[in-house]
Amino acid sequence: MRSSSGAWVVTLSYIVVATVWVLFSDSWLRMLDIELQYRLQTVKGVGFVLVTGVLLFFSVRYHLRRRRQQEYALRRSQERFDLALTGGNDGVWDWNIEAQQLYLSPRSCEILGLPPGSAPLGDWLHLLAAEDRAGAHTALVQHLRGDTERLDVTYRVVHPDGGGGWVHAGGRAVRDDAGRATRLVGVLRDVSEQVARELRLRQAGVMFDCTSEGMLICDAGQTIIDVNNAFCSITGYRPDEVIGRHPNLLASGRHDTAFYRQMWQQLMGSGRWSGEIWNRRKNGEIYPQWQNIIAVRDQRGELSHYVAVFADLSTLKRNQQEIDYLAHHDPLTKLPNRLLLNERLSTAMARARRQGGELGVLFIDLDRFKGVNDSLGHSAGDQLLQRVAERMQTVCDDGDTLARLSSDEFALLIDRPLGVEQLGKLAERILRLLQAPFELSGQLLHMSASVGLAIFPRDGCDGAELLKNADSAMSLAKQRGRNGYAFYTQDLTEQARRRLSLETDLHEAIGTGQLRVYYQLQKSLSQDRWVSAEALVRWEHPSQGIVSPGEFLPVARQAGLMGEIDEYVLDEACRQLRSWQQAGYGLQSVAVNMSGYWLERGDVVRCVEQALQRHGLPPAALELEVTEDEMMQFGDAAVQLLDRLAALGVRLAIDDFGTGHSSLLRLKRMPVNKLKIDRGFVVDLPGSERDSAMARAIIALGKSLHLQLIAEGVETAAQQTLLRELGCDVGQGYLYNRPLPAAQIEPLLQGAPHA
Ligand code: C2E
Ligand code: CA
Ligand code: CA
Repeated sequence: MRSSSGAWVVTLSYIVVATVWVLFSDSWLRMLDIELQYRLQTVKGVGFVLVTGVLLFFSVRYHLRRRRQQEYALRRSQERFDLALTGGNDGVWDWNIEAQQLYLSPRSCEILGLPPGSAPLGDWLHLLAAEDRAGAHTALVQHLRGDTERLDVTYRVVHPDGGGGWVHAGGRAVRDDAGRATRLVGVLRDVSEQVARELRLRQAGVMFDCTSEGMLICDAGQTIIDVNNAFCSITGYRPDEVIGRHPNLLASGRHDTAFYRQMWQQLMGSGRWSGEIWNRRKNGEIYPQWQNIIAVRDQRGELSHYVAVFADLSTLKRNQQEIDYLAHHDPLTKLPNRLLLNERLSTAMARARRQGGELGVLFIDLDRFKGVNDSLGHSAGDQLLQRVAERMQTVCDDGDTLARLSSDEFALLIDRPLGVEQLGKLAERILRLLQAPFELSGQLLHMSASVGLAIFPRDGCDGAELLKNADSAMSLAKQRGRNGYAFYTQDLTEQARRRLSLETDLHEAIGTGQLRVYYQLQKSLSQDRWVSAEALVRWEHPSQGIVSPGEFLPVARQAGLMGEIDEYVLDEACRQLRSWQQAGYGLQSVAVNMSGYWLERGDVVRCVEQALQRHGLPPAALELEVTEDEMMQFGDAAVQLLDRLAALGVRLAIDDFGTGHSSLLRLKRMPVNKLKIDRGFVVDLPGSERDSAMARAIIALGKSLHLQLIAEGVETAAQQTLLRELGCDVGQGYLYNRPLPAAQIEPLLQGAPHA
């Protein structure tokens, strides 16, 4: 418009100037004579043509140049526009409304799923998903009407091949003076990814707010920047109380710094950490939670956030504990059930196997329980079982497990080193406890039980076998008339019984003088004469006859009677030696066995002094025998006692030498005078080369330590000869005499030894 008016102005100016020039130049010419007029007329005409021609040339050149420049600028701008569109991956469309023409760029066609060059003006709505057509149409109509500044609409397109996606169309109408849209130009953009991303974000947002797991987001500097609803309900904190703070405000104090260090190390290393952690709620309560922490990194790989997701485990744990309790306990008596017993049994067995210990299992079955159920009813039966369980629990120690296996069957696992007789005693205690009457709804009820015992490892190598054997031992006890106990192994039952009765009788034996001292003479091998006698205790049992020390001393040890026995033998031996010496028998000394127990009790020195004094014997007349094993196990206090005994002048011998684990260093420091070669090394002499070598070595060792040597268990003359040859000083054994009462020793003392 403006350019055409400019053209008019220039043209009019030209017409005016040219007309003025024509009119004025002609009037000037007319003032000249006619001939000159003709000549100048031609010159003027030619001059006019030349001037206007030159003007025309410059004008045309100017316009052509400008046009070229404009075309160049247009092309550049078109190129930039195309580049921008293809770079942004957008498509262009241009709808000339007046001409009813639609242009779609190749990218637009691609986005809409059309072949390049298509222009589907009439039915473009059908390219859209049915649900989005109405919305797109309304947006278009509103914009054409001028209701909206821009066309701005997002819809789904469905390609003929079934594909498609989300498309955003943006554009603006070109309007005429009346405001009517004549053209609509804009871009199409495939926004499928963006829509999907937004959808995912929205879903994540919903999840963040609605999940029952607590979530906490921190920035790289570990400052809390967001928490969700579940976080608030689990911890009790409101968002404004925690946002901006450090997550350690939740720390419970239950974990040490090493725990957190390890957690951060893993988090930094692998980018995530998960585990159980105890935190503190706002109300101070601490609780367990299962926590996942993820370190989030940005596109450049730099740490940007930490996201922690956690579940409160306290209810779960409580439930688990309840379920666990129900699965492992009998609901009636609250005792462990068979399952738990089996678990404990295998654990205990594994430990016993490792440490070489023993375990005991008692199988307890109530006698005639069915009768109670039948006559008094099941609820009375239940009550009775509860009372029985309560009573039996009173005999249990910390590590023991009392379990109810089925209606009236119980089992007791003893996970501590109790010997056979102690187990028997325990069974008796249970039987006694159950014999006391039970009061049930005003009625007194007498009950009894039968108990079977099995010992690991000798009665079974797995839990099931051990229980089964304890059960069959229980059946045996029932067969024997109920209200009793039986071991799975028959001899154990007897052994336990005998030991128990021995223990009861032993208390009495000491008070009523049933203990006797027998003597076994010791002969000097070089001088062929009696030098000493070993005192060996015997028990004259009123009904069982002579009981050997091998049988009753272990019982005495366990019953704490060892000290009294040793004291008695010591006194009796001293008395006897004195009496023999007074009668003129040439015995120099008497040997008394001393148990480690006595020595460790502490008053042994006083006892020895008193016995010697009482019977007027010099200390050198007494020889105390301590076994090698016991001596090597003594603590410093016991060694000091030995030193004090030696200082008195009492002689000390190591009994059973060669069977224990002597440390030569320790041996050197002990105030010992004599080594007593164990019977085990003598029995196979002289035939066994090995034993000869052993005996020779022990004798050489003793000699080098300046100790006297005595061999015990000398039974044959050949043994005696060899021992003499090897340099052994003294011999003792059945070759000379069996241990005998003092009265029977005297005839032997009267003559010289024959053997
Ligand atoms: P010990 O001190 O090694 O006693 C030697 C044991 O070997 C005695 O058994 C004795 O009868 C037996 N014996 C002796 N010569 C022979 C032989 O030639 N052949 C065979 N086969 N055996 C022989 P005993 O009297 O049954 O004593 C057993 C163990 O009981 C003793 O072993 C000793 O450790 C302990 N003991 C005996 N009396 C007492 C005592 O009064 N106090 C203490 N603390 N322990 C005693
Ligand atoms: Ca001895
Ligand atoms: Ca011995």
